[in-house]
Amino acid sequence: MNQLCLLQVVGAVGTGARQESGVSLVRLSAARDGAGTVRLCMDADGGLLPLVAGESLKSADGKPVLAELKCHDGSPGWLVSRSSLLAVNGIRPLWLGRLEPGDLFSYGSRHWLVVIEWTPEAQPAPPHLAERPCPVCGAALGLAPTCQCPCGGPYFHLENPTAPDDPKALNCYLRAPCGSCHLEHTLEPTLVPEPHEKLLGQELAWST
Ligand SMILES: [Zn+2]
Ligand SMILES: [Zn+2]
Repeated sequence: MNQLCLLQVVGAVGTGARQESGVSLVRLSAARDGAGTVRLCMDADGGLLPLVAGESLKSADGKPVLAELKCHDGSPGWLVSRSSLLAVNGIRPLWLGRLEPGDLFSYGSRHWLVVIEWTPEAQPAPPHLAERPCPVCGAALGLAPTCQCPCGGPYFHLENPTAPDDPKALNCYLRAPCGSCHLEHTLEPTLVPEPHEKLLGQELAWST
């Protein structure tokens, strides 16, 4: 399943905003209520707390809702801003706007990168691609279940992800990197777009 997420990232050098502990990933799709809405509050540590249900514009402990998001699996979300301190890519959003993977979502000096958490899944080849050759083995994609590269490019056979090393299984997805984006495929969840190391605080000094 592919989930829309917010990944807490560091601010630009000089703002003093740093990530204190580990990677904080807020899975928006998992926090939707029945209408597909997620309400976001700030938690006590300065992270984002998704409120799962209820029409209230306050959390149980009285914190105001900063934003509401409408999202579906793996697709961009609609953002309803409830705070004048919210920004998307440095610009205060209108009352309703889109939140797309790759956008930087900010509240004051806190920042989150909008990403899709992509988990590989074996699925039948799309009918219009069933006769096309697999880029690794050359056999028709329709011969076995397939998986698309997270870049949205080619499909590869992924016959049996539970036996990744079985030489008899057509697990072409795991056997070669994507010819389009050069990603080395694994069965682990992948963040798309891949967060730049500077956003994760691994190297805080921007070269000039
Ligand atoms: Zn193949
Ligand atoms: Zn790719």
